[in-house]
Amino acid sequence: MVVEHHGIILKSKHEIALMRTSGRILAEILAVLQEKVGPGMTTGELDALAEREIRARKVKPAFKGYRGFPACICVSVNDEVVHGIPGSRVLHDGDVVSIDAGVIYQGFYSDAAVTVALGAVAEDVQRLIATTRDALLSGIAVARPGSRIGDVSATIQRVIEGQGFGVVRKYVGHGIGRQLHEEPAVPNFGTPGLGPVLRPGLCLAIEPMVTVGDWQVREGADGWTISTVDGSLAAHFEHTIALTENGPEVLTAG
Ligand code: MG
Repeated sequence: MVVEHHGIILKSKHEIALMRTSGRILAEILAVLQEKVGPGMTTGELDALAEREIRARKVKPAFKGYRGFPACICVSVNDEVVHGIPGSRVLHDGDVVSIDAGVIYQGFYSDAAVTVALGAVAEDVQRLIATTRDALLSGIAVARPGSRIGDVSATIQRVIEGQGFGVVRKYVGHGIGRQLHEEPAVPNFGTPGLGPVLRPGLCLAIEPMVTVGDWQVREGADGWTISTVDGSLAAHFEHTIALTENGPEVLTAG
């Protein structure tokens, strides 16, 4: 690895190969969770499934014990944006469920999230989910060597606000590698041409958090769960990517 200024760490090709394996395993696990999540299940049961899938693949859960987080995954329902703690909550038809997971493979972290709607939901809910995914993919597409973080941030913001949705400010994407959170921060809002320059070897977790209403969020009494202040629905998608000379490579694609 090479440590650049501002603490940004560039990974070697060998390190990116390990990150690639970490990301592929995480994508497999998230695909299982996405397939199995449904009405009648508790969020705690989904976490137990995640733990079995993680252990079966001989990787470690990245979130369990992180600053005391008690579970393998975050499950955030409806107006919850991120960091929901799995437990006794029963999922119902019409719920909007964000599942955020991370694993460690040979010391390398990957981090990814998806949002799914259970059963039939209104058109604006489908549009919320589709827009959040689009914003992530659009941001990734501009994460090329020579671009700046602000180019990624501004692209994500434009896609989200273009659909009339809100961009959460308080929580942002991040560098990733031997730590879950590395430099630089990757906001989902910003100005083109500003921020650190992207170079081959940089690995990022890009993760737009989007609200139907206002973007203000608050922390719950459990000290973890982040919800919208106005009670509006939220969605969250995330991929871990590596920048190569040829452009962005999504490490957590299914
Ligand atoms: Mg993340």
